[in-house]
Amino acid sequence: MVRVRLAPSPTGTLHIGTARTAVFNWLFARHQKGQFLLRIEDTDKERSKPEFTTNILEGLAWLGIDWDEDPTIQSERVHEHRSAIQLLLDRGLAYRCYANEEELATMRELQKAENKAPRYDNRHRHLTAEQEASFQAKGREAVIRFRIDDSEEIHWRDLVRGPMQWRGADLGGDMVIARRAPADQIGDPLYNLVVVVDDAAMAITHVIRGEDHIANTAKQLLLYQALELTAPVFAHTPLILNAEGRKLSKRDGVTSINDFRSMGYTAEAIANYMTLLGWSVPEGMEERFTLMQAAEVFSFDRVNKAGARFDWDKLNWLNAQVLHGLTPQQLLDDISPLWREQGWSLPEDVSWSLALCELLGPSLTLLKDGIDQAKPFFVCPELEDDGLKQLEVEGARGALGQLVESLESDPWDGGDIAVAQSLLAGAANKAGVKKGVLMKSLRAGLLGRLQGPDLITTWSLLTRVGQDLPRLKRCLS
Ligand code: GLU
Repeated sequence: MVRVRLAPSPTGTLHIGTARTAVFNWLFARHQKGQFLLRIEDTDKERSKPEFTTNILEGLAWLGIDWDEDPTIQSERVHEHRSAIQLLLDRGLAYRCYANEEELATMRELQKAENKAPRYDNRHRHLTAEQEASFQAKGREAVIRFRIDDSEEIHWRDLVRGPMQWRGADLGGDMVIARRAPADQIGDPLYNLVVVVDDAAMAITHVIRGEDHIANTAKQLLLYQALELTAPVFAHTPLILNAEGRKLSKRDGVTSINDFRSMGYTAEAIANYMTLLGWSVPEGMEERFTLMQAAEVFSFDRVNKAGARFDWDKLNWLNAQVLHGLTPQQLLDDISPLWREQGWSLPEDVSWSLALCELLGPSLTLLKDGIDQAKPFFVCPELEDDGLKQLEVEGARGALGQLVESLESDPWDGGDIAVAQSLLAGAANKAGVKKGVLMKSLRAGLLGRLQGPDLITTWSLLTRVGQDLPRLKRCLS
């Protein structure tokens, strides 16, 4: 049974890169009828915050990503991490290194002066018992390092990148697996060790994560070997790049799923777009799909090796597709909280709000476009220049006056469109202007300007909330 996991660190809100990794893990798990698990990597005590965990879980749920077991909490497993380190010490595969910061800095400076890549020179790998005792007598603390032989050759078959190889010599020397601590203790276990212990304990079969972890994979494979654990299959997904081809970062203005959410993107469009970032649809499949539809056909064969450039036009297009596909009721559910936030009250008659959604839906790209576009239906707009100019057209005010007169003597309830048409024709006729002049003037009066959605529907909606006559009357003087 396929078991994959997302292992976010709760040191910030749900990052777009993490969310995209989540999507790929989830798609693979669902396609394979396997399980998708979560592990909260909260061992960085200073930077980890419970509110970030909440944000990450909520963000995943919002995107439509569900998980199969209660999340594993990494900090609750420190005992297991320490046992694994003890095992490596017992097997002579790990050792205490007493070198202090000053000595390590000097070592690096020398390497730099000789134009060599900085690395730990394994200086404490073979300390004698006397040397160790002497460091301890001086009260020196120690980190614990895992031995990485330079001659080591690491090979794996990556699901995205194919055959991979790494040389032990390129891993920076013996690797620290526990932070500095008094020499009779084991300090805080570190990332690579902890991940291996946890992935094995969770019976993870496939580790799917960003390509920035490739060097970690090489180190982790050595740890699997040393701990005699079965290594999972690895898949390294391409990074998300900005339009200039650099790694998407804070400077691009959006990094967190929250940012997209507050910009008015729908979960469906974001999930759809993140899948397209790095995965190409099979022939014959449209680029607009749900996660479920993608899961049916998902495979790593179609995941690209190259970084994926973020394309706002594509995301906007997808978002518009999603919004245009919503029923008026769905759109109302999504947008009414935004309207209420503006302090606008919706009429009791829900059919009015549904009709407004039906009217505005087709022109939305972002959900929040529906705030500006709905505003004139809740708040009487000022007359703008083009609206004022229209009212100066010969006969315009007279025709509007005729319309107001007919409405006052025989009110329209905003229902039958044929009634509206004949009211317009009659008033134009009486005033001796073309119907088009009256229609433009009506729009100017109702919306303050000449741009806007379908006129008769607009008029009907405003009539139903008693906003037609006051708006038209202000134009007559
Ligand atoms: N906590 C790590 C991260 O967020 C997990 C990496 C991994 O998937 O192993 O980058």
